[in-house]
Amino acid sequence: MAHDHEHEHEHEKTEGDDSPVVGIDLGTTNSLVAVVEYGIPRVLLSREGERMIPSVVTIHDGKPTVGYAAKREKIRRPGETVFSAKRLLGRGLEDIAGIQGQLPYEVLRGEDGQLRIKVGENLFTAIEISAMILRELKASAEAALGKTVKRAVITVPAYFNDSQRQATRAAGRLAGLEVLRIVNEPTAASLAYGLQQKKQGIIAVYDLGGGTFDLSILKLRDGIFEVLATHGNTQLGGDDLDRAIARKMAEEVKLATKIDLFSSPLQTAAVLEASEKLKIALSESERAMFSVDLCIGAGKRFEREWTVSEFNSLVKPLLLETRESCFHALDDAELTFEDITDVVLVGGPTRLKIVQQTAEEIFGRVPNTSVHPDEVVAMGAAIQADILAGNNQEFLLLDVVPLSLGIETYGGLMEPLIPRNSRIPTSARESFTTFVDNQTGVDVHVLQGEREKASDNRSLARFKLKGIEPSPAGFPRVEVTFLIDADGILQVEARDLRSGKEASVEVKPSFGLAEAEIETMLETAKSNELSDLDFKRWIEVRNQAEPVLRAAEKKIPDAFRLLPREEAEKIESICRTMRQAIERQDSAGVQNLKYELNAATTRLAERVIAEALQKAP
Ligand code: AMP
Repeated sequence: MAHDHEHEHEHEKTEGDDSPVVGIDLGTTNSLVAVVEYGIPRVLLSREGERMIPSVVTIHDGKPTVGYAAKREKIRRPGETVFSAKRLLGRGLEDIAGIQGQLPYEVLRGEDGQLRIKVGENLFTAIEISAMILRELKASAEAALGKTVKRAVITVPAYFNDSQRQATRAAGRLAGLEVLRIVNEPTAASLAYGLQQKKQGIIAVYDLGGGTFDLSILKLRDGIFEVLATHGNTQLGGDDLDRAIARKMAEEVKLATKIDLFSSPLQTAAVLEASEKLKIALSESERAMFSVDLCIGAGKRFEREWTVSEFNSLVKPLLLETRESCFHALDDAELTFEDITDVVLVGGPTRLKIVQQTAEEIFGRVPNTSVHPDEVVAMGAAIQADILAGNNQEFLLLDVVPLSLGIETYGGLMEPLIPRNSRIPTSARESFTTFVDNQTGVDVHVLQGEREKASDNRSLARFKLKGIEPSPAGFPRVEVTFLIDADGILQVEARDLRSGKEASVEVKPSFGLAEAEIETMLETAKSNELSDLDFKRWIEVRNQAEPVLRAAEKKIPDAFRLLPREEAEKIESICRTMRQAIERQDSAGVQNLKYELNAATTRLAERVIAEALQKAP
């Protein structure tokens, strides 16, 4: 296989419209909109007069209500209230198996494979729900600025995959916004932080949100913000702390009263809400009360006081899971803890002392909290928006892809085209060929992940390139091009150089894929490095042996015609044993038999040539 990598970089575009470009932090729990005016970023007040809009939507009689008003309805109308919709954006039913039981609304798979959220009698996609929140943010910004807002930059967790990014973009479009750029939340945070500090250095952004954790390492130098590495956990966030409290409380209630607190969606919503309240209260005081209705409407309450230290010991093991991502990211950036000049905290849960302490323990330095952690992402989005609007030439933002992207090659191997932590936008091109004679089509299977075996990676898309001119195996040249735009969205193109035939795919939301989670993928990639290598070696041995064996099998009738019977039988028997060795995946056996077969067929080859020469005129 011939390989010819090409990496190219694009530069930031400026737009010719003078309407304001806002920055939006579309959060799991809260969302914010900000804008840069006269070079200064500021958060815009919502139509409810608040700095944040809870990412909660109630749909009653077909009319959506968003924000605090919806949040108040959450307990009264759990069947009509949707929150944490961000956790469902761009996901399939299998992806959310772990959280489905904890959502107080029903999630189904629609006919198109996309998830549907049941709200009252109606079904909505997570894109539609997110668009309602975005529409509210747009309206708030328009009210605050007194101008129409048509363009925005929206942030997403660094670990959002292509389908989640596409879904976020789709929600923006549905809300009537032109989404100029999708920016990673930690990158936006460091932009806001860096702008304020105007300094050089290497920043670690410790970002614990409602449902995800990300650690990003950025280098700031001469106005250039460069993301060196990023690593995250898509299944760890503030909501998990709530669930830990809820589980503990449910156990106690069950012991004392036999009542099951998770018996209905209504009750589950109430327990989770009470748990979140307790958590937030414990970020401000040493003691707080957990209080929930035992039987909603019946006036029977369960109350129990918590201390910070009880809460801390409950959640500490969960928080320590963030350490893994920190190690990984440093490793990828080829840095050590000593190289980090600042640790910046982002996300609601980082207001908890125990989270700050955990970050401090991991990095051995006190985190910098000079920018408000709730607002830093929206401010950064506004700064990026300002840069894209062409108002700020002082800064340049360089971001990276979090996981390697590649294709499946013959034998089930992953061939990475774009290694993880490559800077975006980027592109790569590689040539492949056919493995079987007269093959007229190739399957292009696009993969994301770090494992050698194709099936161990995440499958992003599949498409077929047809119309390759029939020729012997190894002759056609199929060029595969990967293009990642500044949003981190991937486009893959395959082209047969001889016929000029091409096929391409923009990686569409791959709803409904059974997917091992990204962070476990990275971890299992590490722990399986050796067996992966064995597998890779085996495939290479097999790919070399197969054509030799096939050629020999084809010539068996010639052998019986041209060689003494024993010799022909020997060739036949080696072929048979070699087939069996391939089926057993016996690498050493296949290697030996290949040499044996070569030796055994030398005389046959000579005879075949001699015969051909004799026949020649
Ligand atoms: P974010 O995605 O950054 O909006 O974070 C949302 C998460 O932060 C949710 O799990 C909230 O419960 C949590 N959160 C918000 N405020 C606080 C606080 N003061 N203390 C602890 N957690 C908080």
